[in-house]
Amino acid sequence: MGGSGIFPFVGREAPVRLRSLNTIRVSAGHQSYDVIVGAGLLDRASELCRERVKGPACAVVSDENVAALYGERVLASLGRGGVRAALFTVAAGEKSKTMQTAETICGQMIGAGLDRSSFVVALGGGMIGDLAGFVAAIYHRGIPCVHVPTTLLAQVDSSIGGKTAVNTGAGKNLIGAWHQPALVVSDVEALGTLPPREFRQGFAEIIKHAVIRDAEMFARLQNFDRGDLETLVCRNVEIKGSVVAADERETTGERALLNFGHTIGHAIERAGDYRDFLHGEAVSLGMVAACEVSVRNAGLPEASRQQIVRTLERFELPTRLPSGFQKDEILRAVRLDKKFTRGEVRFVVVPAIGSATLAKHVTMADIEAALAIL
Ligand code: NAD
Ligand code: MG
Repeated sequence: MGGSGIFPFVGREAPVRLRSLNTIRVSAGHQSYDVIVGAGLLDRASELCRERVKGPACAVVSDENVAALYGERVLASLGRGGVRAALFTVAAGEKSKTMQTAETICGQMIGAGLDRSSFVVALGGGMIGDLAGFVAAIYHRGIPCVHVPTTLLAQVDSSIGGKTAVNTGAGKNLIGAWHQPALVVSDVEALGTLPPREFRQGFAEIIKHAVIRDAEMFARLQNFDRGDLETLVCRNVEIKGSVVAADERETTGERALLNFGHTIGHAIERAGDYRDFLHGEAVSLGMVAACEVSVRNAGLPEASRQQIVRTLERFELPTRLPSGFQKDEILRAVRLDKKFTRGEVRFVVVPAIGSATLAKHVTMADIEAALAIL
């Protein structure tokens, strides 16, 4: 029997190809969840949800680009598993990550009769993960959220760790909630349709993970081949998963190590009015500056710094600011950063490739000197 109206795919049968599949368990406080990475997983959503996420109905939240590419496949898969799945789309882009959009989606979910027993499927990049995750956190005081990340950045970073948020006029991610995923399903085949610039920026977070945690992965990145993508996503899920498991709510300082390149990266994003650089591009520049601070303050060998910069270049990430870019604006933005207190900033430095530590005595002068090389 085919479904109709808002739940179009309930009960339809279709064959499913069995392909590769890796499961990584991430622990979060007294809960834990599986991150499943593989090829062709979008068609297996219901099979992968079964046993892990209970609920007769769900809201698939996506953006217009991703919904057009993959919405039907996910709806069809959920329908085959007997889940009533309704698709709710928002415009693509950061502008949709607002309280107002979250409220609209909640209203649509109420209209579709989704109750406390339902769950959310976040189908898209990090914007959708944050928005739909936030909706799941507040809907009926919290319902499960399955993340189906479709950007490289979302697969290796934002889908793991339980941070959800929306933006306000005053700044990014100011309103949000901790809401750990019930399950993450990362289909590496979905990355095949990513615009090249979006694909490349995901490597900024991958290179960051390598630099702060995994010298071996850093070495392997030097000969990266697209066929290695699945293994690479898995390793990055393990790294992010282990860091967030050790510091679920960012209280011990462990999770802060993920901010390598981000203090200056965020300031560059802000100085560029969030238009000039994608997040990963700004983080790439931020890492180059953080390497300079690391050479001066933490003993990072010059040769290692050069290796890091060359690796960023290999993935076509920026390592120099465009000429004429206002460095004063970057400094101003660093000063506004909440991590900056009494003239010093909690700043992540790397004494060697593969390890990172928090330096407490980095000054504005150090940051100014680091910006000089960009
Ligand atoms: P995004 O979600 O805006 O996606 C980028 C673009 O790619 C969009 O236009 C989208 O429609 C398109 N797209 C997505 N998947 C596609 C696919 N498979 N094929 C073709 N096009 C596709 O951006 P993003 O970089 O994934 O995420 C950025 C967001 O993530 C920001 O809002 C940021 O704050 C958030 N974030 C959250 C965390 C966290 O821990 N929660 C961590 C990092 C970033
Ligand atoms: Mg980041």
